[in-house]
Amino acid sequence: MAGKSVLAFKKLRDNRHYERLATATGDIGNLDMLSLESVSHCLFKLSRSDHPGIFVMTNIRTGAPRNLASIMKPAQAVRKAIEKLYPKEYADSSWDNTGLLVDCSELAEQRAPSVLLTVDLTSSVAHEAIANGNNVIVAYHPFIFRGIKSITPQDPQQRSLLKLVSNHISVYSPHTAVDAARGGVNDWLAMGITDNGANIGEFKPISVKGSEPEGVGMGRKVLLKEPLTLSDLVGKVKALLDLDTIQVVRPDADVLIKSIALCAGSGGSVFQGVDADVYFTGELGHHEMLHIRESGKCALVCGHSNTERGYLAVMKELLEKELGPEAEITIAKTDVDPICYV
Ligand SMILES: [Zn+2]
Repeated sequence: MAGKSVLAFKKLRDNRHYERLATATGDIGNLDMLSLESVSHCLFKLSRSDHPGIFVMTNIRTGAPRNLASIMKPAQAVRKAIEKLYPKEYADSSWDNTGLLVDCSELAEQRAPSVLLTVDLTSSVAHEAIANGNNVIVAYHPFIFRGIKSITPQDPQQRSLLKLVSNHISVYSPHTAVDAARGGVNDWLAMGITDNGANIGEFKPISVKGSEPEGVGMGRKVLLKEPLTLSDLVGKVKALLDLDTIQVVRPDADVLIKSIALCAGSGGSVFQGVDADVYFTGELGHHEMLHIRESGKCALVCGHSNTERGYLAVMKELLEKELGPEAEITIAKTDVDPICYV
């Protein structure tokens, strides 16, 4: 076989990578055909893809084109895609619990990812995923935080957990990795209130560990090019978050907004020691709001998950690009903020 080599590859335990067996011969550059152990002992024609290290395989028998992502179990393919977009090391592991929290790879059948995106994994969302036939839920908030000593249906979250496992549905929670990442939820908030970045003078994360790439970290501090009135900013926030009402903390005197500290979800701890004309977040404690008002500053408090839910549309688009056309990704219809205004 001039110009061709036959190589054997072994799937590694992480289910994500392939190792060329030590007995293999030939040069990968000339590789045309290989045998993949533990992939049904099929023969695949191999060619290089646009991505370094990833190869496109065609099943010799069926002629079906495949790539490494498509032969992964759905939970593993989603994990790989999410961790490329929102690297796990960006998360605040001092308290957060991110990653593949429920892995049904051993139970799930081999098919393309069918993903449901949600902020909170409530019992309604779990039912929705079962009804849809989804095999992975990406829940922004982790629904398992602490060690579990028993799993019983008496606890509503554990009841959902039991139902998900019995339906072979895996769960990934990226949480603070999405908060910190470039192009994550806090960048989305910042872009949404600054005419897609056109009104940004300076822009940086509020809190960084020091080891991340530039632009990665918790919260964002925005200095505006053109100052805004508070009512202009309120209008932009309502439009971005699709809300009719938000809570506003403001001093008696009129204020012009030049600087904004923002943080999706609960911003109180991120805002500590940060000076800004307005603090934009999902929730703050009474005394935090009082302190802001007494300091002559403003706060826009929009409901915790209301500052996060709109970002799921961005995540959907990014995941679709990563997972390719075989994957099906939908946003949960039953995921809502627990507070309603009457
Ligand atoms: Zn949150």
